[in-house]
Amino acid sequence: MKAGWRKGIVVMVLILAVALFAGSFWQKEQQKVYSRDIFAMDTYFVIRAYGPYAGDALALCEQEVQRLEQAFSVTDANSDVARLNRGECIVPGEDTGKLLGEALRLCEATNGALDISLYPILKEWGFTTGDYQVPEAAKLRELLAYVDYRELPAAQENPDGPGNPENTDNTENSENRGMQLPKGMEIDLGAVAKGYTGDCLIEQLRSEKVSSAILDLGGNIQVLGTKPDGSDWRVAVKNPFDPAKQIGVVAVSDKAVITSGGYERFFEQDGKTYWHILDPQTGYPSERGLLSVTVVGDRGVECDGLSTALFVMGTEDAVEYWRGNARFEMILVTVDGRLLVTEGLQDSFTCSEEWNAEFIYRDEFEK
Ligand code: AMP
Ligand code: MG
Repeated sequence: MKAGWRKGIVVMVLILAVALFAGSFWQKEQQKVYSRDIFAMDTYFVIRAYGPYAGDALALCEQEVQRLEQAFSVTDANSDVARLNRGECIVPGEDTGKLLGEALRLCEATNGALDISLYPILKEWGFTTGDYQVPEAAKLRELLAYVDYRELPAAQENPDGPGNPENTDNTENSENRGMQLPKGMEIDLGAVAKGYTGDCLIEQLRSEKVSSAILDLGGNIQVLGTKPDGSDWRVAVKNPFDPAKQIGVVAVSDKAVITSGGYERFFEQDGKTYWHILDPQTGYPSERGLLSVTVVGDRGVECDGLSTALFVMGTEDAVEYWRGNARFEMILVTVDGRLLVTEGLQDSFTCSEEWNAEFIYRDEFEK
């Protein structure tokens, strides 16, 4: 009997030791970190992913970034976007089709504050090449005639007509219909492409069994899950007056935190600053009182499109838009130095010492 007890205890201790060993091994595996720097979409991407599967997943992420860049780039002559801009009739690839659909929905939802057909005007300012200039007012007026997302073919419902004549698999299936831009119109998906890419990468990481990762896609931050220790990711929001500093930190898991700011791309002429976010109504940089807009939400593509659009709308319209849309939260910095934070971030936003956050509420009269 005594010997049986002893044997039982030994077996139990052994099982416990194996379990403890396996547990700590697994914990160590989960904390393994892999990181990759990629230059793409005219900026630096840094992807950090944790866990035993992260190394292989990152290699696939790099391929995914290159694939998407080849589809969306305005400068790569073979990209879907460049071909459309040359006036070709093409059947856009699956991702271009999806991103165009998302972008047009956001152009519509923001009443044209986001307008992907701004490209002729962006070129005139030199924001596409870095050869900056302030265009002649008459030239801008002339080019504005080609800016209107509602004229873009995918925006029209159920376009009839034949499929792409160049498409060998040219059935009557609507999926196979060719697409061509009206003469003179050109598009640029720069305001939404990084957010869409972030969503694809998060999806890729998930499908490769990675449950913890942080993506910095040229300042667009997207996080998968929590940190490996289970705590929230802490994402710094830049101070647009001095981007080396921060206005605060937002604690998030499974979210996109995406900023559009006048400081990201700009030039100065005769003492005046001109930035890269333009008002599609005027063709000039949008100056409606905002210096940066950070949008926090579930989907990168939506946060990316909205951050650009809300910047264009300006403080009052941005707040009104937020009140009518429950799906995101935002942090605004105004040109006169106010920091406005929506109520959904009350518990997750920590303000830097030199800043004072004013919270805004869905119900205007709540304080
Ligand atoms: P983001 O950094 O996401 O705010 O995107 C800014 C980029 O989007 C610019 O560099 C332009 O390529 C493009 N852009 C600027 N203004 C607009 C606008 N009102 N609608 C759509 N795209 C824009
Ligand atoms: Mg954007």
